[in-house]
Amino acid sequence: MSSVNATIQLLTREQAESAALSRAAGQSTCSTELASGPWEYDAAEAARGVPAYGPGASSADIAPASTPRQGEIPAEYKQASDAELDRRILAAKEALGDRAVILGHFYQRDEVVKYADFVGDSFQLANAALTRPEAEAIIFCGVHFMAETADILSTDRQAVILPNLAAGCSMADMADIDSVQDCWEQLEEIYGTAPDADGRLPVIPVTYMNSSAALKAFCGEHGGIVCTSSNAATVLEWAFERGQRVLFFPDQHLGRNTAKAMGVPLEHMPLWNPRKDLGGNSEATLEEAEVILWQGFCSVHKRFTVAQIEKARQDHPGVTVIVHPECPMEVVDAADSAGSTDHIRKAVAAATEPTTFAIGTEINMVNRLAAEYPQHTIFCLDPVICPCSTMYRIHPAYLAWVLEELVQGRVVNQIVVDDAVQQGARVALERMLAARP
Ligand code: SF4
Repeated sequence: MSSVNATIQLLTREQAESAALSRAAGQSTCSTELASGPWEYDAAEAARGVPAYGPGASSADIAPASTPRQGEIPAEYKQASDAELDRRILAAKEALGDRAVILGHFYQRDEVVKYADFVGDSFQLANAALTRPEAEAIIFCGVHFMAETADILSTDRQAVILPNLAAGCSMADMADIDSVQDCWEQLEEIYGTAPDADGRLPVIPVTYMNSSAALKAFCGEHGGIVCTSSNAATVLEWAFERGQRVLFFPDQHLGRNTAKAMGVPLEHMPLWNPRKDLGGNSEATLEEAEVILWQGFCSVHKRFTVAQIEKARQDHPGVTVIVHPECPMEVVDAADSAGSTDHIRKAVAAATEPTTFAIGTEINMVNRLAAEYPQHTIFCLDPVICPCSTMYRIHPAYLAWVLEELVQGRVVNQIVVDDAVQQGARVALERMLAARP
């Protein structure tokens, strides 16, 4: 199977030559800009002076002014052929040996993942790095919050490197520390700060792993906790044992899908819009709230719809539909199951008979599963090729650049979380690790 990148190049060329041809093939990409090297976008962004997420699923989201930007990389990397980049990356990897470990997220493009020593979700990768204490450099081919988590969990002598600093996460950026602090103060005015007769605090903050280190630290300092998409229900139970209600950020969908499955009524899950007073709610609504959901979402998973599921069922009778819990509630309800990337992988691996799977998660992971399990028919629910924009900013050219700089003894694009933030974030992460179902 050709990679997403190769397919985009092909489709885009076809579109240029004959738009009708690719339309007839029923294929399209979400942006023709995906066919260019991300450095063109990095340079355009620098010239505009305004950060943006770039082509891909998050392209319509507004990047905050504080979003990191990637400076120019030397022309030799941008001009290198795929074969030359391959040769240089492998040579640098060999020269570095155990001094460097490369981590590749499930959603990363194949052209980068093929160099990874470990492939997994963000938390699996941060933990995988712990198994390589001898590595001086951890090259995280994922997005910014993942590199931050790796820095928190790694030792002081290890440097975590993000090959393209513009590889952020639009969902993580939807909750910033100032807005969360402002929300917290408003909630304190309504609920006070005293525990109830059972010793439960008025609100417990819960942040999804896909958030900045500052928000993880906020949770650590305010009796809260971190969750992943694998353990969100366990973490919510932990939080309800200690609090009367939960403030869940940044992903409303993971919060809603998890709490709904635990029996929390939808009318007790108000949405918090950080641009409005009381998040756009009345005091009465907040008094009734059990889970206050931050108004954030993932632009990749927001693309999945009930209509896509209906079409998959119509075209492939007996299809098994599995979606990620970052998808909207209606999509999760219409699917056969919902769960983390790990859940999706395990569900496919567990099928003993040839099975047709329609999967609602990022296209690179779906295509990799299809290649890994040729006995099954596996396809993405979304027929349009639209990768995670920010993950797509990492290209072999950036990987070659950071590795060759390391060979020369220079660390570029290091992600450093300051000590105070690390301390608070570690508390919230440790609570998560200790939480038991
Ligand atoms: S897939 Fe969604 S949540 Fe994951 S990095 Fe991309 S934008 Fe963020």
